[in-house]
Amino acid sequence: MHEKRVYLDYAATTPTDPRVVEAMLPFFHDNFGNPSSVHRWGQHAERAVENSREIVANAFGSSPDEVIFTSCGSESDNLALRGVALSARRVKGANHILVSPVEHHAVLRTAQDLAQNHGFELEFLPVNEYGQVSPDALIEHLRSDTAVVSIIYANNEIGTINSLAPHAELCREYDVPLHTDAVQAASQLEININHIPADLISVGAHKFYGPKGIGALYVRRGIQLDPIQTGGSQEFSLRAGTLNVPLIVGMAKALEITIHEREIHNEHYQFLQNILLEDIPRLIPDSTITGDPNNRLPNHASFVFRGVDGNQLLAALDIAGFACSSGSACKTGDPEPSDVLVALGYEPDWALGSLRITVGRPTAESDVRDLASTLPELVALNRSAIP
Ligand SMILES: *Cc1c(COP(=O)(O)O)cnc(C)c1O
Repeated sequence: MHEKRVYLDYAATTPTDPRVVEAMLPFFHDNFGNPSSVHRWGQHAERAVENSREIVANAFGSSPDEVIFTSCGSESDNLALRGVALSARRVKGANHILVSPVEHHAVLRTAQDLAQNHGFELEFLPVNEYGQVSPDALIEHLRSDTAVVSIIYANNEIGTINSLAPHAELCREYDVPLHTDAVQAASQLEININHIPADLISVGAHKFYGPKGIGALYVRRGIQLDPIQTGGSQEFSLRAGTLNVPLIVGMAKALEITIHEREIHNEHYQFLQNILLEDIPRLIPDSTITGDPNNRLPNHASFVFRGVDGNQLLAALDIAGFACSSGSACKTGDPEPSDVLVALGYEPDWALGSLRITVGRPTAESDVRDLASTLPELVALNRSAIP
């Protein structure tokens, strides 16, 4: 018998597009050269890298020398925050870091590490109920000794989009670099600097149907940052290590496809999202949409259910054939409410019952309809199991 398996966790990762795999393959064997080598093998690999850099730069609307290849979205976030903070302190004594409290852990834990182990003063920007930072809140907290500001572009847990144009303008007035984590956004939103006028932008390929283990950081010309990985002079001496040519080629190909097909996929996502955002709160008592119901990623539907253990719900969904996610980073043991939901002001009896459903290119209408009809019973069972 055919067992039902429905993957609805595209915010966690996406399958690599077969066209991307095909583009990568020659660079594992025939064209295996080290792009730093002088000989022809090296030159061939270098051309592939520089061609890919141009494609990524076009997506950012930048010039190629403003694109740094990294190993993942997390590394891009780390390089942005650590690199800029350490440089700003060394060059101008800036010691203050401002981040939103709804950042991915790659930003949040990095900022906390800079505070706890490197002596920076860390402040959190207030957010509204949807996780957005208002320009007024930023004005109140920006200082002349602020080293870096980081505000997530599209939130991975709650789908909310932060429109960053006014924030970028304020940061420019104060001469403070603005970083944004666009890792979750890049599969669906433009990452062009005309749309997100930030100084540093992080992306990672496996969120847009590219391979895992490769990311990029846009760094606006003139922004100073210290390397966090030292060694060879690759990547403008900002990121040492032999370039991963196949994965770089794969990321560029995935980004090209994503941009080319974005509208068509987004339309499909929006259609599926509407079903989820309408049906689930209607069918399940004591449930709420998390994040901005309107200004959100088209493929993203997230909820909290009062009095539900989110991890148990995920396990029950998995048994029923549905792969979803909770907001909680905790996989086993003591459940902890997610930092993001706590920052939004949810009490633990709500925050622990979070569910994130994210659709992707292969998702069918029947997939989300099946989930919406299965979920109410699973939530009810889970509630009755909690004393
Ligand atoms: C996935 C994700 C990351 C981490 O990216 P990796 O490539 O998995 O390291 C960072 N920020 C956001 C918003 C994400 O969704």
